[in-house]
Amino acid sequence: MAKTYSIAIDGPAGAGKSTIARRIAAELGYKYVDTGAIYRTVAYFLDLWGVSPKDVDGVERYIDELTVGIEYDDEGKQHMIMNGMDVTDDIRTPDISKKASDVSAHGCVREMLLDMQRDVAKQYNVVMDGRDIGTVVLPKADVKIFLTASAEVRAKRRTLELEAKGQKADYNQILKAIQERDYNDSHRAIAPLKMARDSIKVDTSDMNIDEVILTIRQIVGKKIPV
Ligand code: C5P
Repeated sequence: MAKTYSIAIDGPAGAGKSTIARRIAAELGYKYVDTGAIYRTVAYFLDLWGVSPKDVDGVERYIDELTVGIEYDDEGKQHMIMNGMDVTDDIRTPDISKKASDVSAHGCVREMLLDMQRDVAKQYNVVMDGRDIGTVVLPKADVKIFLTASAEVRAKRRTLELEAKGQKADYNQILKAIQERDYNDSHRAIAPLKMARDSIKVDTSDMNIDEVILTIRQIVGKKIPV
């Protein structure tokens, strides 16, 4: 099998990973893999069955009933398939964000999803974003970026994003949810959010999207023949 290239972008919620990863992938002609969407799909499935994301026994009992699929449409957009059903739009709620964070702490969930993430990277050149891509999923990724920004900046961006869509947004509530998710994701026992030793940190607090893209393109250009 021919060598495939992988770019791992990890970081906390709201750091701009998906926007940046999607653009870098489009510019390089790579597949963009949003691994958060996979955890969200698991959370959504358990929620439909009324299983609390913190209930280890319940999660272990129900998880075998779930098949998660990733498909790409003609525009390269990633779709999440839960037992044959496209749930791409259903998993983007604040409630599922919180539940995905809780559900992702379980070893049985992380184990179940590990191979599928690695398989995509074996098949395609990828820009994969998440929390443990550089540390656990693709420890040999060609490029590892840790994308971050202060919690306040991330909350402000999220607030503006929701307001731009005409949705109600409460900055303080958003900041609290971001801080809780940061704590949860970086304090879990298995595959916590942390910077890989060979990762390059990009703090986007004082950067706009184009500046971040330029910075990452320069880092990528040094490591991958583009
Ligand atoms: O990135 P996104 O906000 O969609 O991720 C939802 C949740 O899924 C995160 O808060 C995190 O707990 C979990 N996640 C993870 N490992 C990944 C990607 C996401 O644990 N690689």
